[in-house]
Amino acid sequence: MARSHLFFLPMKIQYQNHYCTVFESALYRTTSTIIQLEDAVLLVDPNWLVLEIGYIAAFLHNHIGDRKLYLLFTHSDYDHIIGWKAFGDSTAIASEAFVNNPRKESILKQIREFDHNFYIRRSYETAYPEIDIVISGNPESLHLGRNSLQFHQTPGHNRDGIFTVIPELRLWVAGDYLSNIEIPMIDYSINDYAHTLRTAEKIIQSGEVTLLIPGHGDIATDRKEMERRLQNDMQYLQMLREGADQEKVKRFIYKNYIDNPAMMAIHADNMKKTADM
Ligand SMILES: [Zn+2]
Repeated sequence: MARSHLFFLPMKIQYQNHYCTVFESALYRTTSTIIQLEDAVLLVDPNWLVLEIGYIAAFLHNHIGDRKLYLLFTHSDYDHIIGWKAFGDSTAIASEAFVNNPRKESILKQIREFDHNFYIRRSYETAYPEIDIVISGNPESLHLGRNSLQFHQTPGHNRDGIFTVIPELRLWVAGDYLSNIEIPMIDYSINDYAHTLRTAEKIIQSGEVTLLIPGHGDIATDRKEMERRLQNDMQYLQMLREGADQEKVKRFIYKNYIDNPAMMAIHADNMKKTADM
């Protein structure tokens, strides 16, 4: 009998190629990504649990060599920044809106509440990340050694998201957009969300990416799958704007996801929030 199932890693590696490793947390299938560039290593949104963050740190330790570590935050939602101080000596990158976030205290409170609720003890301090490289342009390029990164501002889900495209690697880190397991969560602005989806459309149509890494759920390597997610999310936004009835939304969710009550709760939340936008 094969016994390999008895041995498991502290965290799932969802995808790996020779320059990119996508880790998947047991919680909300949140992704953390390590991208090995020529002269630098980029770590995106290290999260959630103590063993998981320790595993990511050990992986880094084994692979970084003499390269410099950069930490990239796709946005400031607490699940995406929870691991910051475990990598506190790195150079951190995020958007200007991330730095000017008026809700820093309430985000920190969410982290503390999460850790209290589950009696989690971390070996590092939890804090709102201090950012060394602030991305204010749209688009904006950044050179890290011999590689270049392109950023796009992506408000909508929250107010401070960014897309990161690395053309040489044909890779796209999307943050909490284009997930295959979650309907759009519109916490900031439905109009900005729609605009961000148009930015996504341009990136897909350019044909310059062959790997999409969302914040939750599965990566996509197929252009048709990227387009399917885009159309799906555009359709959902349209339904929200029309004030589609519950039955229609339920059918949409059942067809495109699983019959997940959490999605209906997100939808109810979206309706409440977008009514005031
Ligand atoms: Zn998230």
